[in-house]
Amino acid sequence: MLELPEVEVLRKDLEKEVVGKRVKDVMVRSASVVRPFHRNRPEFSSALEGRKVVAARRRGQVIFLDLDEDLTWVIDPGEGGSLHRQTATEEPGDDALLAVTFTIGGAVHVSEATDEPTVRTGVVATADAYEAAGISPDALDLLDDNPTWMEFGRFLAAANRPLKLLLIDPEYIVGIGPVYSDEILWEAGLRHDHPSAKLSTQEVRRLYRATQEVIVAAMKAAGSGLDEVEVDQMIDDEGEAADHLRVYGRAGEPCPRCRRPIVRQRLRKGVYTYRCEQCMI
Ligand SMILES: [Zn+2]
Repeated sequence: MLELPEVEVLRKDLEKEVVGKRVKDVMVRSASVVRPFHRNRPEFSSALEGRKVVAARRRGQVIFLDLDEDLTWVIDPGEGGSLHRQTATEEPGDDALLAVTFTIGGAVHVSEATDEPTVRTGVVATADAYEAAGISPDALDLLDDNPTWMEFGRFLAAANRPLKLLLIDPEYIVGIGPVYSDEILWEAGLRHDHPSAKLSTQEVRRLYRATQEVIVAAMKAAGSGLDEVEVDQMIDDEGEAADHLRVYGRAGEPCPRCRRPIVRQRLRKGVYTYRCEQCMI
């Protein structure tokens, strides 16, 4: 699953490469990809074809490409989607769910290697875009909203939830998933079940700094563009975690801080945490 740092790298690349271009052709492989935004594939294609991309925004893990005529093209990479920039002549691969070409060259392909794709895309009125994409209006985007540490502290106190579950809950925080929630908590040296309202001032500052550092480091690790990086591969086919990850996917390996083995613990159905039992309190 793509999380905020990787999607931000994609957004920057789209801003550079796609903004200012006009959509020429649209290929959608399955109608499920355009629901619930559209009834069928032709409805989506005709809404997008001929439109000019005027801005590239992101909220959480969702990309919003603003179009002319106050429309916005929403791309939600879902659980396993990835975006690639291609030449206009490149044939979409077997996993490609969506391929969009532009009049002055280039194309964007969105793919997901699964029989039940979770990628969603559609064209909606710009004013309704967040709501249409299911983004909670109260949820915090740690990069986009750029809170101060004191604002972040008030947010944590008001939420009053165990830290790991708070970080991954899109009703509270968008764009942080299983990977960076563990990385942030390790960096901050805080336990997954520490109640967010019971942090000392020091701990709030540590957690705040950790969110900033982890997001910046992850953006650096993701490289600079859609054609350069496999940003969806946090853990490769051999089960090796990406180099910039300190705890996620590293059960049994020594903690980089205290050398105790990292453990993987199940918190509830489908939710796991990788953590160090020694230096996260
Ligand atoms: Zn440790």
